[in-house]
Amino acid sequence: MNLTVSPLTLTLKTTFRVAHGASDQRGNVLVRLEHGGFTGYGEAAAVPYYGDTQATLMDWLNALPALGEDPDALESILKNLPPGPAAAHAAVDMALHDLWGKRLGQPLYRLFGLSPTCLPQTSFTISINHPEAMAAAARQSRYPILKVKLGPEDPESALAAIRAVTNARLRVDANAGWTPQQALELIPRLAGYDLEFIEQPLPPGNAQAYRWLSEELRKRGVKVKLFADESVKTSTDVAHYAGAVDGVVIKLMKTGGLREALRAIHTARAHGMEIMLSCMVESTLGVTAAAHLAPLCDYLDLDGPLLIANDPFTGIIYNGATLILPDNPGLGVRFLNEHLSYRDNRTVTN
Ligand code: MG
Repeated sequence: MNLTVSPLTLTLKTTFRVAHGASDQRGNVLVRLEHGGFTGYGEAAAVPYYGDTQATLMDWLNALPALGEDPDALESILKNLPPGPAAAHAAVDMALHDLWGKRLGQPLYRLFGLSPTCLPQTSFTISINHPEAMAAAARQSRYPILKVKLGPEDPESALAAIRAVTNARLRVDANAGWTPQQALELIPRLAGYDLEFIEQPLPPGNAQAYRWLSEELRKRGVKVKLFADESVKTSTDVAHYAGAVDGVVIKLMKTGGLREALRAIHTARAHGMEIMLSCMVESTLGVTAAAHLAPLCDYLDLDGPLLIANDPFTGIIYNGATLILPDNPGLGVRFLNEHLSYRDNRTVTN
């Protein structure tokens, strides 16, 4: 198998601001894996929060030893990858799955035994801004489910402004921005705005703090669910947070790809936890890969391509908040402009 690596620089339509940073552009990485006349594609998202850059991801991928000549041996190829950034692992895993589906002539969801008609609707993200600007963004979006990013500065005003202009289902993401005491004081008030759940109220690395918060909220009769995102990367983390939160947020860039994402999903189910499938700032390539697991999940937060101005791919289709999985073999992702397809003319004709 021949693996090549190229930069995939994404420009955001508007500045993306969450509790731990802001960005206008993201330096992602494209992986291309060739074998037997087929090409598999994968994407690594450089997430500043995890310390990855386009350069560090490309360096790691370029230094990979040969992956062997049996592309269907996904488990052993992935198990033998050297330790490295989860996002880079995800790109290799994604390209292997794409290649697998193309070689077998089947879309990935079918190889996983899933129905493409059982997908939850996706949310659309409202990033941190002044309350009036967040309310304007919520009104303009016209999506039935909004995920509202909130920081430590007066989060209730932003939520109140949004709730005043929309009847959409609302989820809140605090991105680890609150202390346990702040969270205990804030959440009972925020729950009054009819929320589906609150994502990552507390910093990661302390499941005990989540247990304490869940227990205190229960004692006070506050019904809102808590989800863990930054706290939970792999299936092992999911097991660690069982009983501490109601649900987990699964992303390929945290699990290191589809295979570990599947394990994390099954681990969550084994512990009676709910699952939201989400993404980083990723193009249609990475998000379509994740979407093949969407029929296994309760909630979707797969709006990455909607936030990007220069997405080079076509794959998953958005009919409002409803996602339509492509039925081409593998991930079903193609370059929008074949002339820009890095001279690949096999995946666009199958
Ligand atoms: Mg989150």
